[in-house]
Amino acid sequence: MFNALVLTQEEKLTHANVRQISEAELPEGDVLVEVACSSLNYKDGLAVTGVGRIIRNFPMVPGIDFAGTVIESSDERYKAGDRVILTGWGVGENHWGGLAEKARVKADWLVPMPDDCDAAKAMQVGTAGLTAMLCVQALQQAGIKPSDGDVLVTGASGGVGSVAVTLLAQLGYRVVASSGRVEQNGPLLSKLGASEVIERSELEVDARPLEKQRWAGVVDTVGNKVLATALAQMQYGGAAAICGLAGGFALPTTVMPFILRGVNLLGVDSVSCPFEKRQAAWQDVLKLLPASYYQDACEAITLEQVPEFAQRIIKGQVTGRVLVQL
Ligand code: NDP
Repeated sequence: MFNALVLTQEEKLTHANVRQISEAELPEGDVLVEVACSSLNYKDGLAVTGVGRIIRNFPMVPGIDFAGTVIESSDERYKAGDRVILTGWGVGENHWGGLAEKARVKADWLVPMPDDCDAAKAMQVGTAGLTAMLCVQALQQAGIKPSDGDVLVTGASGGVGSVAVTLLAQLGYRVVASSGRVEQNGPLLSKLGASEVIERSELEVDARPLEKQRWAGVVDTVGNKVLATALAQMQYGGAAAICGLAGGFALPTTVMPFILRGVNLLGVDSVSCPFEKRQAAWQDVLKLLPASYYQDACEAITLEQVPEFAQRIIKGQVTGRVLVQL
């Protein structure tokens, strides 16, 4: 028997409790993993609180990512003792996930842990950090260079945002961080590498179709009016990598930035991202993130603390990355 956070539903309300489960209860899969660490992402917040209604089948073990060691495998790519990372693929949404001491998953969903990494480091990066790297790579592939101008990161205090700020600064971009918590998190964002920190309210307005040109690139985790304003402020030929909806899934924009300024909108998904691209992004993010990121922008919690932190993340009250130690 081992510990797991188990979600149940009663009269449309989601309940989250730590309880003992057995290996026999785990879903089918090729690889059984001893989970060392998981992490808390926005989607985990939606799942654990039930606010997002993203879980269809109960009981469910949430946790959209984990890192650990293979106990047994029926797939030739993995053997007992191998260290692995999992993010995405609907794990923690429709297949029991990482907020448990053991998980059984498909071999296709795993990535071998890079040599210079450990489980804690992997989950301090986690789904959010991997997604931030994919956003930065999308901007690079769209040809956005540090010399082109400022890059805006929205939802900058969050997991994806704080990693994106750090990665872009490490790569030499001039980063402008947008946050709803400038007073609280401005000093941290500057320390991570932001050259300027602006109030979210500056962007959360009804923008005109085209505004004064400000951004060569954008990493957006927020959506809605914030993204619409950022698009109206894009420089000619700029690109926006968008991955999130912390401010809502709407996008009240016009065609103007795209047809008059040649702006590119780059959708970023880490959930079903192909293996090679995923593996390359893991290598890059681990190489680029400085030790100071882990020290300054990460905190660690226990399984029992997850429900409390899940409430906090959906209220936009979590800063940086939250590691869950199993
Ligand atoms: P976090 O909660 O850690 O970060 C989100 C940040 O957005 C907050 O810290 C806050 O930053 C800001 N924010 C929160 N609420 C609001 C609001 N109502 N209006 C505007 N801004 C708000 O979440 P993650 O970093 O884990 O995820 C960020 C987003 O990216 C989520 O929507 C998530 O679902 C999405 N995502 C998508 C992935 C993909 O594959 N496409 C993968 C991973 C995440 P501040 O206080 O600084 O403004």
